[in-house]
Parts: sequence; C-alpha cells; structure tokens
Amino acid sequence: MKTPFHIMLVPTLGCPSHCAYCWSSEEGSPVMSIETLREVAEWLRDFRDDPATVTFHGGEPLLAGAAFYRQALPMLAEALSRQGCYFALQTNLWRMTPEIAEVLAAYRVPLGSSIDGPRDLNDLQRGDGYFDKTMRGYEIARAHGLDVSFICTFTRHSVEHREEIFQFFLENAFTLKLHPALPSLRGSEPEKWALSPEKYGELLVYLLDQALEHMGEIDVMNINDLCRCVFTRRGTVCTFADCMGNTFAIGPDGSIYPCYRFIGMPAYVMGHVRDRPTAEDLAASAAGQLMQAYKEFVDGHCGGCAHIGYCRGGCPYNAITPTGGEIKDVDPHCTAYKRIFDEINDRLNDEMFNAPSMMEANPFGSRRRKPAKPGVMTLMHRIAMK
Ligand code: SF4
Ligand code: SF4
Repeated sequence: MKTPFHIMLVPTLGCPSHCAYCWSSEEGSPVMSIETLREVAEWLRDFRDDPATVTFHGGEPLLAGAAFYRQALPMLAEALSRQGCYFALQTNLWRMTPEIAEVLAAYRVPLGSSIDGPRDLNDLQRGDGYFDKTMRGYEIARAHGLDVSFICTFTRHSVEHREEIFQFFLENAFTLKLHPALPSLRGSEPEKWALSPEKYGELLVYLLDQALEHMGEIDVMNINDLCRCVFTRRGTVCTFADCMGNTFAIGPDGSIYPCYRFIGMPAYVMGHVRDRPTAEDLAASAAGQLMQAYKEFVDGHCGGCAHIGYCRGGCPYNAITPTGGEIKDVDPHCTAYKRIFDEINDRLNDEMFNAPSMMEANPFGSRRRKPAKPGVMTLMHRIAMK
C-alpha cells in the first residue's frame, strides 16, 4: 500500500513582511540555487515509491521569483512522475505577479495565504499595509484561476474579536484555516501574542458551532479535519498524526529537516540532499532519533487518553522546541485538543445514539417532522461527498 509523503521546500527564509509573531528572516536572506534544486529533484527521484506533495513554503517563497518556479515545477514533476506529485504553495501573496501566477496556474498549484481578519485587526498584528498588499496579490491569483485559501492566526488580542473575524471570512466567502499564535522563540516578550491553550479550546468550540450553523456557506478546515479525526479514529493532518517519517522539509541550502518549522536550527538537520540519504539514514540522524523518542514518549504519556489514536501528542515542534530539544511534555495545546475532541465525540455519540425520532407526536395526535439542526454527522456526510 502506498503511503503519501510531504516535502516542504523552502526556497528562502527571507520575507518582506515583519509580522509580530513570526520567525522569518530579512528579505535579503539567501535563495535556493538551481543547482541545489537539481539535487533536490535527483534525491526525490529515488527516495520513495509513494506519491508526494511538494509544498513551497517560507519565509516567503515568492521571493524566489518566476524564473525559479519555471524551472522547479517541471523539474520536480518529472523527477516524481513515477510516484505521482502534487504541488501547493504557502505565501503572503505580496510578490504575486501575473508572470508568477501564469507559471503556477500551468501546474494548478493551490495557494494558502495568511490574513488575520478585517484590515485594522490584520494590520495591527501583521503590520501596516499588509492587508492591501495581500489582497492585491489575491486578485492577481484569482484572475489566473488559482485557488486561494487563508490561514488566520488567532492571537491573545484577536481572539477577543472572533465574531468579527468569522464574519469577515463568511462575507468574503474565504475558506478559513486557523492557526494559534505560539510563544515566540525570539524577542523579549515571548508570550505577548501567544494564544493560551484554554482560549484556543474555547475558540475551536465556537468555530465548531459556527461551522455547523453556516454549513454550505463556509469551510472551516480545522473543524473539518478535527471531526474527520474523531469520526474515522485516525489522524488526518500533520498535527494529529505521527508526522515523522512522512514529512520532511528542505532548506534553501539543501539541508533536510523533520519540518519547515525547524529550518535554520542546526540541531535539527537530518541530512543533505546532495548525499541522497535514504529514509533509514534520515531516521538514524540525531534529529530523526529525537522525533522517534517523542513518538515513544507520547505512547507512554498519552496512553490513558481517549484521543491518543488520532491526536498522537499533537505537534512535536510545539512540544520539543520550548525546552531546547528536551522531551519533557507533549504539545502545550493538549488542553485545547482535549476540549474540542471531547466536544466532537460527545456530539457524535449524541447524534448517533440519542437522536430523537424524527417524527414527534404533537398534542393533537398527528405526527410531524421536527426540523433537525445540522450536526457533526451532516458535516461528515458533506465532506465525504466532495
Ligand atoms: S512538526 Fe508539527 S507542524 Fe511540523 S509536520 Fe509535524 S505536526 Fe506538522
Ligand atoms: S489530547 Fe493531550 S493527552 Fe490526549 S493524545 Fe492529545 S496531547 Fe496526548
């Protein structure tokens, strides 16, 4: 059986934006050379027999320019033609041009972008002018037929405006994916923007209610994914699965890491594409063994948790980096995950086992159909039909 894997390709760590809670470098940071790109393609040609998704990530991947993608897309598609290859790109869209959009459209590359809500709220935490620059790029992307979805980072500040933010996504018919701001590993005030696990849990329950109420009008990706996890009892996105072994990231210099979030941290380098490491070589590296140790830690630590089968201790990056690489605990968002998984589980059980008869007797003896509110089962049915 084929096991799809995910490569996050980071052409540069540079970014023209300076979002308060982000870790990217200055715009002038080095860009992956075409020679390194060739090494990447040659490594991937024989690395695995499984289908791959290659996501261009950053920093800001559009800083690499149209010429980079004009070479990268056909080169990678050819190298992975035997296994099958899908592309995606995560960008703030500031550097989108008709030329780049045309190159991406030829390979139908879906785009993920970032916007934190209406202009004022967004620019307060991402910087003046961010909103307009992203929307300009969005228009260019849409004019070329590219699909764009948005990640919304909720911070300690913006979570107090969740209704306004949800309304913004609803009115603009944007697909919503949310991301909780984490304590910054840089700067003097690591907790300034961070969303607490308790607030994150409350936010997820709020969004579950909204997603069910507005079913068919908006997709809240996290809610779809969380419900799918509980329903199928399997993790279906990286945070809720053993990501190690099936996800790798490649930095601008060709170094291989367990995930894009570790890029730039030398302790997490697993190998280099020029050495054509096998999956076993990567697993045997110090970073590979640390990831394996996290998996074993989760087996013990989360052994008594009803959600271990699909949560798997959350994100190893969130768990490991705050302690400087020591495994002491699971993902600090465990509280939030438990809260939303419990909620979905309870609702599903309720819908499956305690559903009232759709036909209710009325005082006059006739039976009429009670209008049922759409629940988790209806959402699962909708997702399965897509
Ligand atoms: S480390 Fe975290 S973000 Fe990276 S692939 Fe694993 S779960 Fe996803
Ligand atoms: S919810 Fe918490 S205890 Fe349960 S598996 Fe996830 S991280 Fe572990």
